[in-house]
Amino acid sequence: MNTCKKVLLLLLAAALILCCFTGCKKEAKTLTMGTNAAFPPYEYYEGDKIVGIDAEIAAEIAKKLGRTLVIEDMGFGSIITAVQGGKIDMGMAGMTVNETRLQSVNFSTTYATGIQVVIVKEDSDIETIDDLMGKKIGVQESTTGDIYASATPEDGGFGEENVERYNKGTEAVLALTQGKVDAVIIDNEPAKAFVKANEGLMILETEYAVEDYAIAIRKENTELLQ
Ligand code: GLN
Repeated sequence: MNTCKKVLLLLLAAALILCCFTGCKKEAKTLTMGTNAAFPPYEYYEGDKIVGIDAEIAAEIAKKLGRTLVIEDMGFGSIITAVQGGKIDMGMAGMTVNETRLQSVNFSTTYATGIQVVIVKEDSDIETIDDLMGKKIGVQESTTGDIYASATPEDGGFGEENVERYNKGTEAVLALTQGKVDAVIIDNEPAKAFVKANEGLMILETEYAVEDYAIAIRKENTELLQ
């Protein structure tokens, strides 16, 4: 083999390696969604898989971008920080748009309405929002339900001392069934699922707050926001 042929072969091999490398890299490009998978029907476990409305929307976004969707389950209160730090590409967790969160992340256009409702035991003497004053209220930590309930009575809340925070909505509901709290303030769709799954609970006929859900995206990542 003469030198010219050798050089040609070498170049060909190099081109092949490069091609494979960039090809592989493209395939491995992921879109990471951070969520708290205890929020049916938006995100919950089916076996060891996280499914639900948010997971389905995220899958469509990933498909459109030609990326592979990866879902990371984390505490609800960690999602914004994870987005900010670029640990995940987007936070999707039935997340309400509010002013405080807007200081840390950008939000997509909204894709659903959430309503904060109150779950009580069927035989409870709590019939209205006003009846909650002085009662023990269970919430999921760092959620808007937590923020509203923990505010002072002057600010429309019930006082932090009356609020019990749980990692998951399911844990707050369990505490209600065990009589550890008198009511749970949580988003309406998971509330319906929790009431269905636990006997003796009901949702008060009152809308405590109406909110918009959107996807949290890192401020710098304007491309994904589009
Ligand atoms: N919508 C509420 C919030 O954004 C609760 C979301 C959740 O618990 N996943 O705070």
